[in-house]
This record gives sequence, structure tokens and C-alpha cells, in this order.
Amino acid sequence: MKQSHCDLGNYNGKEKDSFIPALSHGATIQVITMESGLDDKVIIVEGTSDKRKVLSVLKEDIEVICTNGTISLSRLDELVDELYNKDVYILVDADESGEKLRKQFKRELPEASHLYIDKMYREVATAPAYHIATVLLSANIDVNMEFVEQRMS
Ligand code: MG
Repeated sequence: MKQSHCDLGNYNGKEKDSFIPALSHGATIQVITMESGLDDKVIIVEGTSDKRKVLSVLKEDIEVICTNGTISLSRLDELVDELYNKDVYILVDADESGEKLRKQFKRELPEASHLYIDKMYREVATAPAYHIATVLLSANIDVNMEFVEQRMS
């Protein structure tokens, strides 16, 4: 949430009266705006073991959806409808089927954010928890910091 203040004292009397007659000269109103305009965050992963790994490091209550691999166009269409107005993150394996899935999402849901694990780990499910936590944190997703700190110890 962002707050900005509008000082009505900047308007001359006539303008002020025509816009907001009930407020006296110099009154301050607060305008609250949503930062992104998007509602819930959703993370898309490939399989249930990926989902388990992601849930194990998340601090935020975020929905994690499994595609169970590459998906049919009709299922993808359904999913895109479900994800309308959500803040979507794609976190898939650094392998051929993961890339294929990314391509599907880039085409059908171009506004989604793509998160990448280090290629040396290849799979979300088997990558170290601290690595997954660091990747999610870099997208401003709230994770349990103990996982990020594991790397240091
Ligand atoms: Mg894979």
C-alpha cells in the first residue's frame, strides 16, 4: 500500500470549492492506492514434490499450483482464466520439459513472472531449500529467513 497526500491548499478557492466543497482550505486528504493492482500471489510449479519444496520455505500464505508437466491448451486456457488478476510466478525445472512449460506460459500468460533456479540444480524438488528460498526472496516473496541463512552457516 502506498499513501500519498493531496494538499488542497495548492488549489485556488474556486477550484477547491468545485471539486470538494465540504473540505476547508488547507485540508489534507489521503489517497490510498494499491501498489500493483493485483490480488493474490500464485506460484506455478510442475509436480507435487516441487510444491512441497516451495511450501516448506514459504512464509506467506501463497497458493502453489502443480501443472503435472506440460499441459494441454484447453487445460492451460482454464488455468489462465483461474489466474485472472493474480500475481503469477512460474518456477519450473531447469530442463527441457520445464522450458517447454515456460514457453506455454509466456505465450498464454505473458504477464506472469518467471523465476529460475540455478542450472546446476536442475530440479526444483531436489535443489537445496536455501536456494529455493533465495530465488523466491529475489521476487519479493516472503520466505522463512532461516533457509536463506543456512547458506551462510
Ligand atoms: Mg523436470
